[in-house]
Amino acid sequence: MRDHHIDLCGQIDFTRTEAMPLLARDAHFSFACNGCGDCCRGREDIVLSGFDLWRIAARLRLPPQIVARGYCRASIGTVSHLPVLRLAPVKENRNNCPFLTGDRCAIHDAEPLVCALYPLAQEISRKGQVSYFLQPTGCGGQVIEARVEDYLARYDVPAREQTDVRWAQTCMTLEDTVEQLEALLSPVLVRRMQDKLWQALYFSYDYAAPFLPQLEKKLHWLDAEFAKLTEYQQKRNNASK
Ligand code: SF4
Ligand code: SF4
Repeated sequence: MRDHHIDLCGQIDFTRTEAMPLLARDAHFSFACNGCGDCCRGREDIVLSGFDLWRIAARLRLPPQIVARGYCRASIGTVSHLPVLRLAPVKENRNNCPFLTGDRCAIHDAEPLVCALYPLAQEISRKGQVSYFLQPTGCGGQVIEARVEDYLARYDVPAREQTDVRWAQTCMTLEDTVEQLEALLSPVLVRRMQDKLWQALYFSYDYAAPFLPQLEKKLHWLDAEFAKLTEYQQKRNNASK
């Protein structure tokens, strides 16, 4: 069983190494940055959680599915087998993030967790323990020093931790469930299962209502839908005996 990681590149299958120790909240860290803004350019790897998408949707006052269609790339995770949504860089605009306007982030108060953390990364254990660590950026320039707690607070990361923990634990649990269902269901039903996962995790949300209660409701719905798919498959298996 793997813990859930969000690294600076949003690589959800990323593994933290010994060279990247976990940092205490009152620890200090430093990194070099010349302010070039390349963190927002040419990035194929900024992964959005359902909460990230909901926050952007609320900011833009658009349904989450429309935001995803307009600004994101959807895929199924090679390891997790869960839906993965990434910001899609705009080829016609120097491969910039679709929300980069000039040298500013157009969704600054609703930016994804990956962007808010940078260059810190987040690790959430199965038990819900949240930790942070620093990743090498490979950048040069002025050295910036900060206390972990202060750095996280500048973009209100602590205020969203509870939701991020719930999201991470949901993904870890669903990974196991999906693995079991994939072994049971026909390819057609696996695609149906994936459609339902997209709805429950990302799309089927009202941006004007709080995210967490909606997530809990969608997870109940998902359980019922998975049970229906399983029952349908079992009936088909029995019929073909
Ligand atoms: S962290 Fe690196 S890529 Fe990002 S703005 Fe600073 S120098 Fe540029
Ligand atoms: S969402 Fe904002 S901060 Fe994040 S990569 Fe895009 S422009 Fe940069």
